[in-house]
Amino acid sequence: MKLKIRTGFGYDVHQLKEGLDFWLGGIRVPHTHGALGHSDADVLIHVICDALLGAANMRDIGFHFSDKDPKYKGIDSKLLLKEVVHLLALEGYEIGNIDSTVCLQEPKVNPHIPAMKTCLAEVMGIPETDISIKATTTEHLGFVGKKEGVAAYATVLIVKQ
Ligand SMILES: [Zn+2]
Repeated sequence: MKLKIRTGFGYDVHQLKEGLDFWLGGIRVPHTHGALGHSDADVLIHVICDALLGAANMRDIGFHFSDKDPKYKGIDSKLLLKEVVHLLALEGYEIGNIDSTVCLQEPKVNPHIPAMKTCLAEVMGIPETDISIKATTTEHLGFVGKKEGVAAYATVLIVKQ
């Protein structure tokens, strides 16, 4: 049978607000500010979900988990990611690899990347070596640089045997 490989892309933004827990890549990053959202506002998990759903042509995260639904208020985004991986598996798709970038002025993301990879690998049931997480500031430019928000991008490959 022919091997089917598809690519997907995700982009997301959340506002940063003082005093909120800052969930990023499945872990809580110690900081004065956290991301605002209907769920736990984990921007990295959200872009991975969107990239995976996009690769399978299964709409986006808001389509499956509405931000109007009280069921998802404050929900741990790891649960959403687990469900997305399950939805893809039902269609016969496995994750090939994930590459992502977090855009954040502060705090530094790099020291937390190993813990994020360990966490996300466990949630998705894939090796850490298939998950790349990168981080950049925007050199104090724009809403990220002014510390008003956090953005992230992800691309993925999914494979159907
Ligand atoms: Zn989001």
